[in-house]
Amino acid sequence: MKLYCEVEVVSRHLPTLGLRNRGKGVRAVVSLCQLRGPAKSEPTGPRPACLLVSTLKDRRGTRYELKENIEQFFTKFVDEGKATIRLKEPPVDICLSKADPGSLKSFLSALRLAHRGCDINTSLSTLTSVKSSEFEKFKTKMIITCKKEYPLSKNFPYSLEHLQTSYCGLIRIDMRMLCLKNLLKLDLSHNHIKKLPATTGDLIHLQELDLSDNHLESFSVAFCQSALQKSLRRLDLSKNRIKALPVQFCQLQQLTDLKLDDNELIQLPFKIGQLKNLRFLSAARNKLPVLPSEFKNLSLEYLDLFGNTFEQPKTLPVIKLQVPLSLLESTARTMLCKRIPYASHLIPFHLCQDLDTAKTCICGRFCLTSFIQGTATMNLHSVAHTVVLVDNMGGTEAPITCYFCSLTCYINSSDMFK
Ligand SMILES: [Zn+2]
Repeated sequence: MKLYCEVEVVSRHLPTLGLRNRGKGVRAVVSLCQLRGPAKSEPTGPRPACLLVSTLKDRRGTRYELKENIEQFFTKFVDEGKATIRLKEPPVDICLSKADPGSLKSFLSALRLAHRGCDINTSLSTLTSVKSSEFEKFKTKMIITCKKEYPLSKNFPYSLEHLQTSYCGLIRIDMRMLCLKNLLKLDLSHNHIKKLPATTGDLIHLQELDLSDNHLESFSVAFCQSALQKSLRRLDLSKNRIKALPVQFCQLQQLTDLKLDDNELIQLPFKIGQLKNLRFLSAARNKLPVLPSEFKNLSLEYLDLFGNTFEQPKTLPVIKLQVPLSLLESTARTMLCKRIPYASHLIPFHLCQDLDTAKTCICGRFCLTSFIQGTATMNLHSVAHTVVLVDNMGGTEAPITCYFCSLTCYINSSDMFK
């Protein structure tokens, strides 16, 4: 029985000597081995097992007795592929990391049996040197650019940090990829993927995802609400068939680069201003008639909105003011203004949705259904350093929706519409 992971063996005597561990593991093959012949003390009992830690530098490995020799297991982060085994003799902590959580769990239960001196039903390895080829399982990068190279019978190495599978004709994401918890970069461009599985967000360390040139028609809400909110920095969705992104998209707060070119977008997520880290945005060749009002809150380095179907700003505003305000409108305005927290376990779900989609007036206050809506022209240089011309006429201006919570706010900013 073998476990492929990173290992660091820390002596518990080291701190007293003023030495510190490096805090970094090395790639290792940890095997549960059987000693030859039964123990001398119990000639009839099961043959004792030991732990062998082999690294590329030390392929013969270091052997550790297991029977009644484990002082403690530390398994709090076992689901992240980490665990520590504290031995009595020698007094060391064997820290395992970057292991496949499933394999780690079964390995640890086998260790428990070995500690108790029980017979282990799983196959034990023999005490031999580990072949250097076994260390290939620690590959961190794999690039596949045609169907022929795609692994059908073999698994992807668990240690992968960068995986590219392009031009493979994939119609969905291979579930085996979603088990690669160490992935930082996943490139699935040039396939035929239609939908993202709900568990894509399980790739908790993923920083870059390239889904360009696929057949995506929508983008999943589950993805936007997953652990990727904390890790995803670059997302490429260009050359798909996406018509709209969900409101929750703007919860992907770490995004710095977003490519949406060559889709069928008829609107951008209207809370887009919440993407505070966004520096690079391109949404060229879509069907955007107007930009959402929060677009003006962006602070970009590069912006490309070329080839959209921007409309001429309307001269007549849409007036939806209620006088007096309804009870719902006043309550909602107050809640948002005072930043009173809400959630679907406190108030009905549809009210949460209403509050989530509230409009922001020029004055900074909020409005739900009572507002004046207008369209103004915005120079894109006000939100980005480098602006690609929006049309062949050399323009860098685009229409943007504006909301006004009251007639006063509208009148005060009426010079915007000249
Ligand atoms: Zn206002």
